[in-house]
Amino acid sequence: KNLRMYFPVGSNLFTRNKKFVKAVEDVSFSIEENKVLGLVGESGCGKTTVGRTIVRIYKPSHGSIDYTRPDGSKVDVAKLNNKEMRPYHREIRMVFQDPFGSLNPRIPVKDIIAEPIIIHNMLPKSETEDRVASLMKDVGLNPDYMNRYPHEFSGGQRQRIGIARALASNPRLIVADEPVSALDVSVQAQVLNLLETLRDEKGLTFLFVAHDISVVEHISDNIAVMYVGRIVEKAETEELLYNPLHPYTEALVSAIPVINSDKSKHRIHLEGDVPNPVNAPPGCVFHPRCRYATPACSQSVPELREAGPGHMVACHNYDKISLRGI
Ligand code: SF4
Repeated sequence: KNLRMYFPVGSNLFTRNKKFVKAVEDVSFSIEENKVLGLVGESGCGKTTVGRTIVRIYKPSHGSIDYTRPDGSKVDVAKLNNKEMRPYHREIRMVFQDPFGSLNPRIPVKDIIAEPIIIHNMLPKSETEDRVASLMKDVGLNPDYMNRYPHEFSGGQRQRIGIARALASNPRLIVADEPVSALDVSVQAQVLNLLETLRDEKGLTFLFVAHDISVVEHISDNIAVMYVGRIVEKAETEELLYNPLHPYTEALVSAIPVINSDKSKHRIHLEGDVPNPVNAPPGCVFHPRCRYATPACSQSVPELREAGPGHMVACHNYDKISLRGI
């Protein structure tokens, strides 16, 4: 709720006039249990920072992260210190983008997957190996290979190892940060199907971070679109794809490939570059690239407001323009 994450930059870190990268600016959303929220946007829009803040790799500069425990009690994990965070690190896990870089090449796979079990004292040592074997089966890996090292597996298999590691502590919420973007397209589909199966079988909840809306559309119940640190639109997946209200979402949706369609003729190419988050433009950050911009757009920041049931949009003119969905 109202999450903000600023990083100081430049050589003036210790002076009064600090400059900041405003990576995340006033971001609010909720994820219901057993649902998947897709968080979409271009590189550098702050979506990964949101994910890392939720698992508390970063402590947010401002805002709260309200987590509801299985007994219904609530805790603001943004306020917890590292020691207090420990039980939540067991319940909230992250799957990283890079299956090549996120696994220690010197450690056999069985020890990589067992790490959370050991850290959180979850099982006696004698039972850990059986649990690792069962986790490997859950993610479609042959347990006979548990003594092998990460380099002996393919990219898709390595991402499955990362998923097995995340599952090892019986989490409730998984933040998946671009989990398939480093994989071949055919392998992407397999890993997405695996995540969907795990969601259904284990009742997991996901924050699924991706730059490609066509990757999240199949797995997400709801989608939130980010641009330069802010959420500009969020809605149920179908509603967002068929009835986008923000011009940036319109451009993202227009880029989704559709088989047997002449849709490529309608693809919207955005002019200009994503602005620097250190010196973001005033008013609506999208206004330098927006073909619907009016003078008011450069003067005030549009609030995220309800445009329909469950459909939120941050645009001054959303009700005056007619956009294209899929
Ligand atoms: Fe475009 Fe203005 Fe809406 Fe921003 S507020 S998206 S500039 S029309």
